[in-house]
Amino acid sequence: MTDFRCRRCGNCCRWEGYVHVLPGEIDAAAFFLGMAPEEFIRRFTRLTEDRRGLSLTEREDGACVFFLDGNPAGCRIHPVKPQQCRDFPKRWNFPGWEKECAGGRND
Ligand code: SF4
Ligand code: SF4
Repeated sequence: MTDFRCRRCGNCCRWEGYVHVLPGEIDAAAFFLGMAPEEFIRRFTRLTEDRRGLSLTEREDGACVFFLDGNPAGCRIHPVKPQQCRDFPKRWNFPGWEKECAGGRND
């Protein structure tokens, strides 16, 4: 997948599921947005079901709270987005991901 290039379709930010955020990532994102980490946690995160971590919250339509609609789509915290976001799809993906990800299709 060395030639993969994100086409900024935004589908990976609209999928269901957790966007895990680690403590260092919370600090960085809070600083980027000019707020205290506590405020970031209160406004933009929720506890995961296993109660072992935090995930970003979603908009009403299910997209990530930081998703910016458009073509190309964007991320409000792009320079400091969580590692989970940076790692898709090269370091983690799932069966059939190519169908959803414009960068994984050959059309
Ligand atoms: S933090 Fe940014 S890149 Fe990650 S899911 Fe949310 S909008 Fe997408
Ligand atoms: S689904 Fe693929 S092409 Fe679309 S924004 Fe995510 S990584 Fe980029």
